[in-house]
Amino acid sequence: MDKSNGVDAPTLFGEIGLTYDDYVLLPGYVNCGLGDVSLETELARDLRIKTPLVSSPMDTVTESKMAINMALLGGIGIIHCNNSVEEQAEEVRRTKRFENGFIMDPVVLSPKDRIADVDRIKDEHGFSGIPITENGRVGGRLVGIVSQRDIDFEPDRSRPLHEVMTTELVTAPFGITLEEGNRILKESKKGKLPIVDEDYNLVCLMSRSDLRKNQDFPLASKDAGKQLLVGAAISTHSEDRDRLAALAEAGVDVVVFDSAQGHSVYQIEMLKWARGRFPDIRLVAGNVVTEQQCVALIEAGADALRIGMGSGSICITQETVAVGRSQGSAVYHCARTAREHGLPVIADGGVTSIGNIAKALAVGASTVMLGSLLAGTDEAPGEYFYEGGVRVKRYRGMGSQEAMEARGGHRYLEQEESIHLAQGVSGTVVDKGSIIDYVPYLMQGVRHALQDVGVASVTELHEAMREGRLRFERRTPSARAEGGVHSLHSFQEPHRWSRSQR
Ligand code: NAD
Ligand code: IMP
Repeated sequence: MDKSNGVDAPTLFGEIGLTYDDYVLLPGYVNCGLGDVSLETELARDLRIKTPLVSSPMDTVTESKMAINMALLGGIGIIHCNNSVEEQAEEVRRTKRFENGFIMDPVVLSPKDRIADVDRIKDEHGFSGIPITENGRVGGRLVGIVSQRDIDFEPDRSRPLHEVMTTELVTAPFGITLEEGNRILKESKKGKLPIVDEDYNLVCLMSRSDLRKNQDFPLASKDAGKQLLVGAAISTHSEDRDRLAALAEAGVDVVVFDSAQGHSVYQIEMLKWARGRFPDIRLVAGNVVTEQQCVALIEAGADALRIGMGSGSICITQETVAVGRSQGSAVYHCARTAREHGLPVIADGGVTSIGNIAKALAVGASTVMLGSLLAGTDEAPGEYFYEGGVRVKRYRGMGSQEAMEARGGHRYLEQEESIHLAQGVSGTVVDKGSIIDYVPYLMQGVRHALQDVGVASVTELHEAMREGRLRFERRTPSARAEGGVHSLHSFQEPHRWSRSQR
């Protein structure tokens, strides 16, 4: 076979296990502008999103803050399940309730609370303009607002708030548009704008400091009722049937089975049960890496498959249990099988760069699930801290000793409970700032990749791959080294995004 123009995908993946760094895409004919490249894709059966990114259901990656912002940017977040059923359902509800620009669960105090309580909130959350309602809760009648100016020079921090709060308030009626709210905030020069119902009960809040963020998100992933899309993870343990019922009640759109080895009697039974019980929820089954595994889960009712075993940055599965597959090969083979049944796949784990996202899509993935790439962002759970002078956040595997202990329960433990086999590690990742800046940067890189191989959309990319028009080449370790930065004494790493680049 003449390989001067590279090889097609079946030839590339015909022999040994390959991962993203083992191959490169050959250029095609550039026939559209960068702005013409569409990244719209299929997340699950009959569910399309405009950005092919999914945040991983890990307790150091996705809670409602990540899910809200991922959905605003056109992707989706999957809320982790290393928490109680109530906590997870509340994270789903928070995401579904989110109204762009409106703070739906503001911190509220009552007139009897004290200045010291405002100090504490300022320390914990960093803000001090706090609405005061009769009962100290959202939904209570609004009676005032306490801002920093009201309490700055007050020596007695035990004074009750009704003595110091501002009672002449600028408010806006519930139902106003984001645009109207922004205009009132700008004109009133106030820090906070409480939104009230017809009885003057507090519904939500707008904040002056969010004005910059109160932009439109034209790519946002929304349901028919214009609420943001959200996913949540469950395990295959029988008690998680109740979890799934609670998530459904909270309005979850997509449920993702969270298991390293999805081809099990447990998952198949649970999938069949869930399929019959919750026909409107998209069910993402996994994780799988072989054709046989895919077919079994598709036949049990999956709407999409999650691909990857042993490829995650925090993963030690292939070392400890010797089972898994190289991620490039896993995605290619599973995507091909799933496509024969009309289903998309999510390439999960092992993505370390923009190029890897493009390569996952090029071998058939419809979306890419990210853990480590999103873990150091403002929207990930946890606080930043310094490690050796570098600002970092914690990131840990869900099968790590630490995550198992945090859950304190049954799930990741062996039958033989005294022997705990960790399949993940705990570590740190550098501060990347907000995903509001980072995700568009990643997607711009992917647009460049598609333009360079000569396609204008993810759909065209998949067609070109299936028809053999998209060409690949295997890389030797030295070719790979050549493809990275080399021969310099020192350099800055522009491709490793960090907060300082914004
Ligand atoms: P799991 O809960 O699926 O499996 C843990 C153990 O429980 C397994 O032995 C499993 O067979 C068993 N089990 C599952 N359902 C059962 C049921 N109904 N009855 C009896 N036993 C049952 O969790 P996991 O596979 O260990 O994964 C834990 C976490 O770590 C997940 O978040 C997963 O995504 C992550 N992880 C991912 C990978 C990967 O490569 N993608 C690898 C390891 C761990
Ligand atoms: P990353 O994007 O390379 O960091 O990989 C994230 C993915 O790793 C997740 O979406 C999971 O599929 C997988 N994962 C999460 N926790 C663990 C673990 O403890 N061991 C192995 N894999 C894990």
